[in-house]
Amino acid sequence: SLFSVQLLPMYLESFCVLAIIQNAETGTVCSYLTFKQQEYGIALAFKKKVQNKIKDLLQQMEEGLKTADPHDFSAYTGWTGIALLYLQLHRVTGESSHLQRALDYVKRTLRNLNGRRVTFLCGDAGPLAVGAVVHHKLKNQAESQECLTRLLQLQRSVVSSDSDIPDELLYGRAGYLYALLYVNKEIGPNTVDDAVIAKVVGAILESGKNLSKEEKKTERCPLLYEWHKKQYVGAAHGLAGIYYMLMQPGAKVSQEVLTELVRPSVDYVRHKKFRSGNYPSSLSNETDRLVHWCHGAPGVVHVLLMAHKVFKEEKYLKDAVDCGEVIWQRGLLRKGYGICHGTAGNGYSFLSLYHATQEKKYLYRACKFAEWCLDYGTHGCRIPDRPYSLFEGMAGAIHYLSDVVQPETSCFPAFEL
Ligand SMILES: [Zn+2]
Repeated sequence: SLFSVQLLPMYLESFCVLAIIQNAETGTVCSYLTFKQQEYGIALAFKKKVQNKIKDLLQQMEEGLKTADPHDFSAYTGWTGIALLYLQLHRVTGESSHLQRALDYVKRTLRNLNGRRVTFLCGDAGPLAVGAVVHHKLKNQAESQECLTRLLQLQRSVVSSDSDIPDELLYGRAGYLYALLYVNKEIGPNTVDDAVIAKVVGAILESGKNLSKEEKKTERCPLLYEWHKKQYVGAAHGLAGIYYMLMQPGAKVSQEVLTELVRPSVDYVRHKKFRSGNYPSSLSNETDRLVHWCHGAPGVVHVLLMAHKVFKEEKYLKDAVDCGEVIWQRGLLRKGYGICHGTAGNGYSFLSLYHATQEKKYLYRACKFAEWCLDYGTHGCRIPDRPYSLFEGMAGAIHYLSDVVQPETSCFPAFEL
């Protein structure tokens, strides 16, 4: 009762940190305010707890997947997402059985492609890119190459100016661009030619300039995008996800384009910030409601951190820090534990803030969100349609937990590079 509602989270934060962060070498616990950089990591006991929970959840997930849709190949709700989880587990543990599992799942997806969509998250590019990577890691060069060839064949519809493909991450060009950048990161630079990437980037820029002109916003927001007639802001369907991909070093967008087109557009989104630090789901929406990766600060934080890296201006970091505050206040979600609109996805924003600032406060917050995921299923949260999937369900929470215990190399799946 000594603490007001606003002070309470801060109080809890400095109190509970004792149990979570300790000196990795001596095992001594220290207070939140006195620990020095680098000396303190995540307490061993907490790590153990997380690792045990990962085993437990993996078992539950495998059991649950027995009744999952055998034809859903997507990274978002289907088998490619499960393959991505096993790739991640292979990365953090080095266990070859995980890579084998990833192969089993990705093989299943490659039989089910339907040519309807082109993105990493929801289309054929996801299984093909993940297939190329898994086969490459297993030294199956011919199979890897076959996946890459098929991945590149998708570009035709992506760059064609008369196609009605959108630009956002889930179903649009930015989601295809991610697939190309992903294979370049995982297999090696130039696996996909710069010329191909330049064409895809060119198509995204063209589309953004066109809509901006149509809407008479060339001054304020030179790159404008919409999906289903709405100008979304967030990472999944909106501006944040598209700008984030355009600013990736691997996208090799020229400094001039970054400065003249991307920067003012990012600033335009910045000006839509609510007083809370959150962002609207679309440009026409005035209500400060959703705090999800797909809509709201947990997605926008990534574009702000990237803008800070690229343009080296403090204002971007400051806004990102404000995102961190609203996510800390409102980011434990009743919608579930997943990546897209769940607690795990929101937890990733703290890991990214931690990368950018090296402030242990963010590591602590990431651990607290992980702690919530450790009590999976006990909070009366809504059960998503695909409860074991990467972006809606349990696989996403496991992915997050496996990243929290190795926070230095954490990476939001199908988004961060
Ligand atoms: Zn969502």
